[in-house]
Amino acid sequence: MSETDGGPRRRAIAPDPLTPAQRHLNMSRIRSRDTKPELLLRRALHKQGLRYRLHERSLPGTPDIVMRGRRAIILIHGCFWHAHDCPYGVTPASNAAFWSAKLARNSARDAEQLTALQVDGWRIATIWECALRGRARRIPSDVAETIQRWLEGEEPELQVQGDWQRSMKRPAHPGG
Ligand code: ZN
Repeated sequence: MSETDGGPRRRAIAPDPLTPAQRHLNMSRIRSRDTKPELLLRRALHKQGLRYRLHERSLPGTPDIVMRGRRAIILIHGCFWHAHDCPYGVTPASNAAFWSAKLARNSARDAEQLTALQVDGWRIATIWECALRGRARRIPSDVAETIQRWLEGEEPELQVQGDWQRSMKRPAHPGG
């Protein structure tokens, strides 16, 4: 497999230059499937010997990855759309009111989905996009191992995000 990661998306911190039509197109991607971070993680989980079902429509919110036998679900969350507390989750400066309302609705929907699944007895791992792409990304096999350890344990929830601490420690001007 070649390494083709394009680096961090700028969408979250750029001004909002989109026309309504373009924005609508972007918004529709919130439900997109088989995104690059998801594919990276699925490949790593598969290598780890873990088996799962995808996009289970019968469950609240159509979770991305479902391990029925283990009663566990893995959600891959885009940092912008799911308002992650990381540099990629920053609300755009222009149209701020629109975006904060929109993103607050997304967060409320996420919380509802999580509760509905937990009430139903599911354990939930949330893997943030920044764990899998961009400058704070982790090695996908490490993420898969973290998930495997969690599957073998008892914790009801797991969250994996990018290694932002390491990414901040990198010198901005090497040698300077
Ligand atoms: Zn993030």
